[in-house]
Amino acid sequence: MSTILPVAQRSETILTLTAVAVAKSELNSEWLNQLVEAMYATMMQCNGVGIAAPQIYVSKRVVIVASRPNLRYPDAPEMEAIVMVNPEILERSKATVLGEEGCLSVPDERGQVARAEIIKVRYLTLQGEQIETVYNGFPARIVQHEVDHLDGILFIQRI
Ligand code: ZN
Repeated sequence: MSTILPVAQRSETILTLTAVAVAKSELNSEWLNQLVEAMYATMMQCNGVGIAAPQIYVSKRVVIVASRPNLRYPDAPEMEAIVMVNPEILERSKATVLGEEGCLSVPDERGQVARAEIIKVRYLTLQGEQIETVYNGFPARIVQHEVDHLDGILFIQRI
């Protein structure tokens, strides 16, 4: 059983901070695995399609992207959950798309946010392997939303 943690809510300071990069010594560690397990359990419990560590009060650069249809996002495409450590958006298409977003930290609001349609992301796996991938559409939107959390930005600031 994984622990389900309380989710930080808008106006809490933790959500406004720039999160700290995960150090090499933390890769493959029990603590990092437990952090990700708690993030995953909390995200699933709240019907989220993504979560960032600051949302569970840990100011570290870790996100999970997990698009799948659910009650909050019935039209979301199905993908395997991806854990990204120290994610960086390397490139963003000039073309943007408007789409509806919500946030586990802003449960009472949804809004149309313009995001780059296509992005190139570099991140580390939990084991420290470096991955570069291109995302487009909804998964690209989730990555941009979650990386914003690592920089202390909520989607409501982009409306
Ligand atoms: Zn969010």
